[in-house]
This record gives sequence, C-alpha cells and structure tokens, in this order.
Amino acid sequence: MTTNLQAYRGSLLHFLADPAFSDESHPSHAWHEDGLLIVANGKVQAAGDYATLHATLPPNTVVHDYSGKLLMPGFIDTHVHYPQTDMIASPAEGLLPWLETYTFPTERQFEDTAHAANVAEFFLDELLRCGTTTAMVYCTVHPQSVDAFFTASEQRGLRMVAGKVMMDRNCPDFLRDTAESGARDTETLIQRWHKRGRALYAITPRFAPTSTERQLQLAGELAAAYPDTFIQTHVSENEAECAWVRELFPNSRSYIDVYDSYGMMRPRAMYGHCIWLNERDRQRMAETQSAAAICPTSNLFLGSGLFDFERADDAGVLLSLATDVGGGTSFSMLQTMNEAYKVARLKGSYLPALRMFYLATLGAARSMQLEGTIGNFAVGAEADFIVVDPQATPLLQRRTARRESLEELLFALALLGDDRAIAATYSAGRQVHVRETT
Ligand SMILES: [Zn+2]
Repeated sequence: MTTNLQAYRGSLLHFLADPAFSDESHPSHAWHEDGLLIVANGKVQAAGDYATLHATLPPNTVVHDYSGKLLMPGFIDTHVHYPQTDMIASPAEGLLPWLETYTFPTERQFEDTAHAANVAEFFLDELLRCGTTTAMVYCTVHPQSVDAFFTASEQRGLRMVAGKVMMDRNCPDFLRDTAESGARDTETLIQRWHKRGRALYAITPRFAPTSTERQLQLAGELAAAYPDTFIQTHVSENEAECAWVRELFPNSRSYIDVYDSYGMMRPRAMYGHCIWLNERDRQRMAETQSAAAICPTSNLFLGSGLFDFERADDAGVLLSLATDVGGGTSFSMLQTMNEAYKVARLKGSYLPALRMFYLATLGAARSMQLEGTIGNFAVGAEADFIVVDPQATPLLQRRTARRESLEELLFALALLGDDRAIAATYSAGRQVHVRETT
C-alpha cells in the first residue's frame, strides 16, 4: 500500500493526562509553539517540534502551513440529540414542559426517512463547523432515524456513536415502542452498525421515567450480550424529574440505582447531566467506570441545576463535556466550556482552561474507553484534528495578542470563541470543514 503522507505545521497542543491530577513528573499535555503533525493514511504518525520532525519527512512532502494557529485533537461532544437541531433555542418553563411542547412533536417527524437524512446532514455540518469530530448522539424512537444518521456519518468517514431511543411509557403514542420491539430493533441496529467503519452503537433508553421495568431489563440484557457497545441515557437532571423517578421506582436507592439494578452501569455507559447525585451514586459511577456527560448550557437554559465538579473529582468519576442540543444552546464546545467555567464558579470551584480542553478531548475519549483511538495525538491514533484560529474575531485577536501563557490563550478561546474560531476540521486526515473567509 502506498502511504499517503501529510504534514501540518502550527502550534500543537494535545493532552497526555488529566491536568487536575498531574504534576511535573507526569505532564498533562504536550505543547509545541512551532509544531508539526504528521499523518499517514489517516492516522497520527508523529507529533512534535517542527525543527525535529521536519527533518524526518521524505523529500517533496507537502507541509500545510497553519503557522499562527493551533492544531489540536477534534472536540468530542458526549451527549447531543441530532433530531432536536431544529428546535434549539425554544422557550419553555423547565424540562418536562419543554419535552411536551417541543421535543416530542419535533421527534415525531423522524418517522420520515428523508426528513431524518436532511437533519442529519445539517447536524453533521454544524458539528464539523464547531470542530467536533466525534459525538454520542441520540436518535429518535424510529430505527430509520439511526440508519439516516449513520449513513450520513459514514459517507463523511466520521467516528460517531449513536442509538435508537427506547421509550415505552409516559410519552405520546406516536413516539412509543414496546419493551420487546425496542429491544428487537436495537439488536438489529447493533448488528447493522456497531463497528461498521467508524460507527459505534449506543443502547439508548431515553431516561428511566419513559421506560417500563421490562424495557430497562431488556436494555440491560442487551448491554450484557454486547459488552463493547455503548449505553447512553439521562440521570438526575432536575429536581422535579428526580421526584418523579422516586414515585415510579419506590424500591430503588436512588435514580442512578434504577439503571444499576438493570446492569447498565459499566464501562462505555455515558450518563447525561448527573447533577442531583449523592456520594454513593458517585462512588458507583467511579467503581463501574460509568461516565458523566456534563451539559452546562442545557442545565442553565432549563434551570436544571449546577454540576458539582469538586465532588465528582473527589469520587474519581470519569468526566466529559457535552452540548445536549437542543436543551443545550450551542453546538460549540468552546461555548460549552465558557458556561462550564461559570457553573464551576457558582459551585465554588475553579476550572482552568487546560482542564476544559482536556475534558473536551482526551477526557471524553477516556470516558468512552477510546483512548489511543481518538482524543489526542498518540502515535497510531485516528487523525481527527482541528485548526483553531486565535485571531478569528477582532476581539479574540486583540485579547490573544496580549496573552502571557498557554492558559491565557486557551481561556480567551473558551470564553470568546465559537464556530468562527475553527479555521478547519479534519477527520481521519481528510479535510471535512474549512471556514469560509469573507
Ligand atoms: Zn439530553
């Protein structure tokens, strides 16, 4: 096989460990002000100093010059609903009325495959425009919504995780499966899509209130039968919802214990929100390597609550950041960091920018048990990366010109940046988005 070798010059940043738990002997990140990323057949061959690595390139290798910009791994959004793209920024008083008024009618449209395909294309365009190269995606209850999504992501060669929502009670008839049909459709979709190309399947009960005990039991059985699949659901998002779960499952120790009792806490299980947890819940998450998808724009928008970073870190829970569009108000992981920072402040803790960029890249990959595949520039990792422009707007240009450290540069990007800061996005070494310049 002939090697397709590409080289990219720019300031290079990627993570090796969690900045919250690193020290000088175990650095959290690699930073090369004048760096070079070498990609062979869609995978990282080397990442380091330009001066050192340039000499190793075969003569006549084209070097794409992004000097003045940052090269970093693509962002990973660990919780997002593609069918809710068209209802982002819809007003409602809290989660449950918002579901009734906007979410369910919007999701109903996905019984139409052409509509699903159309939204999937727009959704993927938007992710790539924002520099997100991998996401954990909720489809709707309709199996065809999953086919439409994976067909679109496969055509672009993207590393994506998705699944059919399972929902057999407390929802409109037009969005209801049954315990048996939901499990059967899920298994068919696992066999069709899981590990086909870069697609990965997530078993996706929407949340405990919309599944019967029988449905949760069957979801847990699938999770055991297909241990390398993902699981995704919502937990402890807001107080009214938690009270509802206590009524529906009076014998459970807590909300997350409902999932635990059906075998759904395990590696590759991603729990959205995780706001109203107790210490035992956090311990169980850490013990089982279940991960938390923190959704700050959504939590602020719906008034759900504030994620507690300090307690999650004390327990050693795997953490990542997520947009939760359409409850979330932006597809941008930079804007998600902006709000995560403020949520942490309101809880009395502090999130350095380095930590936020870690959570949006390697932290997410670790949460998904995909370290070495995505999330950093380890040799052999898939070359999903972005070109970030610190001069994307006049204000960013002015602020970043005065930065005195990497932390200040990243902090300005997180607080002031959005899709405009993403100059280009690459997936498996292929350019899949380039910012239009006016
Ligand atoms: Zn959600």
